Amino acid sequence: MLKGKVAIVTGSTSGIGLGIARALAAEGVDLMLNGFGDATEIEKLRTGLAGEFKVRVLYNGADLSKPAQTKSLVEAAISDLGHVDILVNNAGIQHVAPFQDFPDEKWEQMIAINLSAAFYSTKAVLPDMKKRNWGRIINIASAHGLVASAEKVAYVTAKHGLVGMTKVAALENAQTGITVNAICPGWVLTPLVQKQIDANAAREKIDNATATKQLLGGKQPSMQFVTVEQLGGLAVFLCSDAAGNIRGSAISIDGGWVAQ
Ligand code: NAD
Repeated sequence: MLKGKVAIVTGSTSGIGLGIARALAAEGVDLMLNGFGDATEIEKLRTGLAGEFKVRVLYNGADLSKPAQTKSLVEAAISDLGHVDILVNNAGIQHVAPFQDFPDEKWEQMIAINLSAAFYSTKAVLPDMKKRNWGRIINIASAHGLVASAEKVAYVTAKHGLVGMTKVAALENAQTGITVNAICPGWVLTPLVQKQIDANAAREKIDNATATKQLLGGKQPSMQFVTVEQLGGLAVFLCSDAAGNIRGSAISIDGGWVAQ
């Protein structure tokens, strides 16, 4: 169904972005990968995906904290892969600190990467999607796009903003074949979350297993991590015809986090 479509997945060198990129490649989607990491590892990833799924896979190392580089990522995908059908705004970072101590530069950086990058990439990709009257824009928000936690002011602000941005883009395209939705995951065991578990374990002088249990127990009733494969499956579903009238939704996949 998606064979021959082209997707940009931002932040796809790790974690959720990589899981979604794999799931799309498995459906025959050509990919523009993006994100940071060791050049040799990224090249291995690129050739591995291309070989395993027989799709075209390119990589662009744009730093999404910079609007000009975000725009150039979209331009590169259009010029090198022909067009863009699917945009997954996934790149994101985390920083945890009380409001009054939250570093200004972390605030600026997180708003730039977790929120503004999605504005610039969506703006850049819409004219191309409109030409074919088909598109899927998927914003990876978070349970923190719907509810808050202490000590995450920049993250919660950016993710709530991303849910709002999703609704505006969806409404403006409601009579087109372009849908825009947000996915709101709960805890997923990626490097972004492992860092928080490590910090909690060190602060409270507990072992990793206890810190993991505490992290899940605090928020996620299932007591299980959401997996990147589950997120990949949801992203593929949002690209399907069956999802053609899901517009402006913030879809929770969070083990019951926001049901409480
Ligand atoms: P991760 O750290 O494994 O991956 C983040 C990706 O973003 C990496 O590829 C990294 O290189 C890239 N990235 C970071 N800064 C970048 C920049 N300036 N320019 C380009 N790429 C950049 O984290 P993850 O957990 O996979 O997170 C992915 C997304 O999912 C984030 O938006 C995060 O907020 C969201 N999310 C994660 C969880 C979770 O529990 N892990 C839950 C909800 C939402």
